[in-house]
Parts: sequence; C-alpha cells; structure tokens
Amino acid sequence: LVAARSYSGNNVVPLIVLALRALQHRGQEAWGIAIPGRKPFRRRGLVSEYPVNVAKVVTNYRSDVAIGHVRYSTVGPISLENAQPVDIASAFCIAHNGTISNADEIANFVQDEFGISSSASDTTIAGYRLLQHLRKEKSDWFSAFEKLGRELDGAYCFIFITRSGEIYAARDDKGFRPLCLGYHEESDSYIICSESVALSVLSAKFIRDVMPGEIIRLGKDGIQSCLFSQRERHSHCAFEYTYFAHPSSIIEGISVYNARKELGKVLAEMYDVKGDIVIPVPDSARPAALGFSEKTGIPTEEGLMKDRYGRKGGLRSFIQPLQSERIEVNKWVVPVEHAVKGKNVVIIDDSIVRGTSSSMMVKLLRKVGAKRITLLVTYPPITHPCFMGIDFPTHNELIVNRVAKDAENLDEINWKVARTIGVDYLGYNSVDGLYKGIGLGKNELCTTCATGDYSCLRAKPEYTLRMRKV
Ligand code: SF4
Repeated sequence: LVAARSYSGNNVVPLIVLALRALQHRGQEAWGIAIPGRKPFRRRGLVSEYPVNVAKVVTNYRSDVAIGHVRYSTVGPISLENAQPVDIASAFCIAHNGTISNADEIANFVQDEFGISSSASDTTIAGYRLLQHLRKEKSDWFSAFEKLGRELDGAYCFIFITRSGEIYAARDDKGFRPLCLGYHEESDSYIICSESVALSVLSAKFIRDVMPGEIIRLGKDGIQSCLFSQRERHSHCAFEYTYFAHPSSIIEGISVYNARKELGKVLAEMYDVKGDIVIPVPDSARPAALGFSEKTGIPTEEGLMKDRYGRKGGLRSFIQPLQSERIEVNKWVVPVEHAVKGKNVVIIDDSIVRGTSSSMMVKLLRKVGAKRITLLVTYPPITHPCFMGIDFPTHNELIVNRVAKDAENLDEINWKVARTIGVDYLGYNSVDGLYKGIGLGKNELCTTCATGDYSCLRAKPEYTLRMRKV
C-alpha cells in the first residue's frame, strides 16, 4: 500500500510507482494506482514487468494526490477484477493489505443493495459497507470508519482516495500488518506506506508507524488523525519479521534486519551444532545466517544462489498463489558446488510451510556433494492456518501436521520433519525464541500459526483456503 499527497501541487504519481516497486516483495500478482475522478489503472504482474505500463501511468495520470497497491491474494480468485485499488460506486477507491476474516458476514449487509457478486473480494465488501456507513453519517469519515471498525474482524490496513481528492489510511486495532507515515521534502508530500523501505527508496523521512486503531486523513488543509479503537494487546505479525517484510524496514521501532540477525543468534544458543560452513536459503534468511555465524564462529558461504537473470529468478516463491508456480520459482535457485562440496553444511531458513522447497534445496546440495546437512529454522513449527493476511495452506497440507501430528515435543517434531525433508538434523526455533529474537513479547506479537491460539480474532473463521469457503 502507498498513498501520497503533495502540499505544493507536485505530481506524486512517479513517487507512487517507485514506492510500489520497493514494496513488490509484498505482492507479485497485480498492481494499480488511483487518482481522484478516474477509474483506477490496474495491471496483472510486476510493476517493472512491462515498462510501457509504467510509462502510460506516469504520462496519463498526473495528480498531486494518489494511492497505489501491489496485490498478494489470500482469498478470492486471482483475477484482474480483484486487483486494487477498487472503485466503490465512484465515491472513493479502496486498497487493502490483510484479510477480513468475517467478510461473508459483512457481505450480507451489502449484497442486495449493490448487487455484488459472490466472488467479490473482502476488500470490495468492506468498501461497500463503508459507503453505507458514510451515507448514514453524512460523509463523516471518522464516524463511519469507527462503525466499520466495530464490525470487521481480521487484519486490515486500508487506504482510500475520495472523488474530491482526500486520502484516508486506517490500521486495525491489533496492528497485524505494518503501516507507516513519512515525508518527502523535495515534493513536499506526506506519504503513507506499508513499510519504511518505500520511504528509504524515495529518500523520504520516516515519521512514525500508523498506530493500531488509528485513521489518518491527508486532506487539502493538512493532516488529521483519530483513534477509532484502542486495545491493550496488539498482534503484530511475527511472520513479517522473519520472512515477509523487507530487511531494511523498521516496524514498531524494530529493525527487521536486526531481528533476523538476533533470531540466528537464538538458534545458535538453542542448538549446539557443528558444521564447516553456514549457508542461508536466499534471500530472507541471510541476516539470520549472519547472526548464527557471528555467534558460533562458523563461516558463512553463499552455497545457494538465486539466478536473477531468469524471468522468475527474482520472484519470491512463498507468495506465489499456486503450488506449481512456487516450484517453478524454486527451480531458479542454484547450488554453488565449490562452496559446499565435501563440507558439513548448516543451512539457515526462515520457515518451513509445506516442506516442498526445503526438500528441493536439500536435494540440490546433496547433488553437488554436501556431506552432513543440518537445517535450522528461525520460525517455530507452523501448525495452523493464518486468517490475518498470510496465505498458508490448509491444516492438513502443513508439513508438521502431515508428519509430526502426534509429536509430544519440539525434539520429536525436529527429527520427524528432518526425516521427511532428508536432512541429518533439523532444529526449529521455539515460540519463546521467536519473542526473544524479535524483541517483542506475548502482548505485542501474533504467533497464532505456531500456537493455534486464535483469541486475536473475535471468531475463528470456518473456511480453510482461498477457494474453499464452506
Ligand atoms: S497467524 Fe502467523 S502469519 Fe498470520 S498474522 Fe499471525 S503470526 Fe502472522
């Protein structure tokens, strides 16, 4: 997500495009931008994939106020129709990061009035519900959003742009997904974006995180903010820190890079393993491998390299929507024979979900002559699906549930998963180790996918997967 408003009349669309490129790691399926009074511009694929689209948008969509989005879907079909921003009855456009876990319930309020299709995304449904509240609240956005916030369950960061050129940005009161505010001096623009990496790329100043439960207005007359809900306990997604977010970002005052390095050190304290070299699974495990290496003194080597020259080499496999695409992306990881041949290797990975990509890496390393292979993982065993913005597979597809369902402790999970993946030893982080590495406690982090504690939601949804709503 990104939104920008220039207070000196500068065209912010080039800034939006650059920011979307910086946020591409958060979504690879589609992208779009919206300015007041025009249908949003939306395309499938990466921002940089077709430069002609970028040229078109920069030339034809000039505005001092704009929003943008890169899509990573967790519910609903993968189609251009569900790309964002979404136009809501020409009143405003909406873009969303997260998952509304009770979207089916909310749909009952809006389906008849607006004739929304049953395949509509949670974002579209939330947008129309907000429109109903706005009509009742005489276009008072703060009151209307307060009402919407009371109804929605799940994770959301929203940005809106109205027909008259106002921007609103809201973050749910648990703070599952990140959102921050910055200032770009050169264009005199305030910018709201999912991660501070976008501000760094624009050479803009990071001001602060948008608070959980806060709605901010970037209006013609300046910035206004209001807390629509407040909670004692927050649920910042632990998976953002280990995998999802860019390492250069700062979330809740914590450097993602430092958190990952610390997680590597936590693994070094938990597991007394021997090895000749440490290698990261590219790219998100690199800082953790450095931390592990620093703590143990085992040198780091680049034993697995992503081939970035191939069209799919630069993509992230986990956030690809289909399993066949995830496997295809993993094929662009190449082992470096001279780094690993005849060596006892310690691989550091950020997480294991289905186990498919880990097995592929291990086979590659065995093929080029790695001797003993140890795999250490910065995220604890993932045992439960996420309904708050990350597309994990169903309960039964998660490797821990498939092969270590009845395990009584972490050691047993470790050796059962090790046997399936084909490594000599495997060590997962623990939930306490996760808190320690990230530096946030139980009252601040969500770890539901590792604990099965869904108390961060009002109700656990019944659907199991994006296409399989019951
Ligand atoms: S369940 Fe896991 S992936 Fe989902 S928000 Fe919580 S920590 Fe993040």
